[in-house]
Amino acid sequence: MGVFERMMSDGHEQVVFCYDRATGLRAIIAIHDTTLGPALGGCRMWPYPSEAAALEDALRLARAMTYKSAATGQNHGGGKVVIWGDPAAEKSEALFRALGRFVGTLGGRIVTGTDVGTDKQDFVWAKQESPWFVGLPEEEGGSGDTAVLTAYGVWLGMKAAARFVWGDDSLRGRRVALQGLGKVGTRLLGHLLEEEARVTVTDIRPERVAEICATHPGVAAVAPDAIYDQPCDIFSPSALGGVLNDETIPRLRCAIVAGSANNQLAERRHGDLLYEAGILYAPDYVINAGGLIQVADELLGFHPERARRKVAALYDLLLRIFAISREEGIPTCLAADRLAEQRIEQIGRLGRIYVPE
Ligand code: NAD
Repeated sequence: MGVFERMMSDGHEQVVFCYDRATGLRAIIAIHDTTLGPALGGCRMWPYPSEAAALEDALRLARAMTYKSAATGQNHGGGKVVIWGDPAAEKSEALFRALGRFVGTLGGRIVTGTDVGTDKQDFVWAKQESPWFVGLPEEEGGSGDTAVLTAYGVWLGMKAAARFVWGDDSLRGRRVALQGLGKVGTRLLGHLLEEEARVTVTDIRPERVAEICATHPGVAAVAPDAIYDQPCDIFSPSALGGVLNDETIPRLRCAIVAGSANNQLAERRHGDLLYEAGILYAPDYVINAGGLIQVADELLGFHPERARRKVAALYDLLLRIFAISREEGIPTCLAADRLAEQRIEQIGRLGRIYVPE
């Protein structure tokens, strides 16, 4: 599929390819929709196997950001920045400053920050060249690590799902299979253990699993691929995307899927498969919106309590999505999409009212 054809299929507004000869920077900036405001979305650095894979990731993630912003009530559109490169080998001040200049050429149509493969320091460099970066360290005027509020939102989202399924939102004694012990997964584990859930973990980094099991003796561990077969109440995909697919869904032995990973469904139809299997799926872009809510708040002048309050509202939002799914007999991912599209339509329409300058 050509780039225009692909853009037309999901309605992307703009795709910018950036190359800097001096640093070797190869970046794709994808802007999906700016009806509600400037696009907001993280910057991922990854050694993609091909240019097509990098572009596809940027487009998919940008679209998800439009829905995430709209469904959670932000005045932002969706976008994503992807750097095609190895974060372990190719990072430098010059590379991120080059990115800062390219993002600057868009004049604020997109605001970006940390994601997989990038960290706060990268954007301290980038922000020297243009102001459109968020999620910087607190001492640099940013709001700090977004994993804290993301994990908080996922934990509350799990509780909302528990309430919907079992009529009680306590996770005490509930069996949770947690995939991924990174920044979010580790904090989510903390919330779960505090509530006395029974947690089984996995990660592709065995040393990380060993570390967690040593410090938390009650936590069990399984090999990465075995997590899908684990009998549990809640499966929590909190590593990478695409893990809910034709191969894994028939293996799941849970009542709820609720995790932090972006783009958990390999394809949209996998949301239908979960629905048909009677598994309640907490739509990824809603349950993991804590980080987005934090950086959107940062753009208003970060107020930690206000941001936490907004993240706490994800609990009721998810209950609403689950209720729409039940009442209308549609998968939860579709119910979430509808809420997002309604907001884009309703708020977007306001721009039609002429206001003299
Ligand atoms: P991270 O890179 O810190 O952690 C990811 C962890 O997953 C790592 O420990 C990695 O070893 C592990 N992993 C990778 N593949 C795996 C596999 N197949 N099986 C088991 N473990 C595997 O990332 P993070 O910040 O914790 O984010 C986790 C997920 O949540 C990502 O999908 C990210 O896009 C999403 N997310 C993060 C935030 C945030 O604020 N950090 C916000 C929203 C969504």
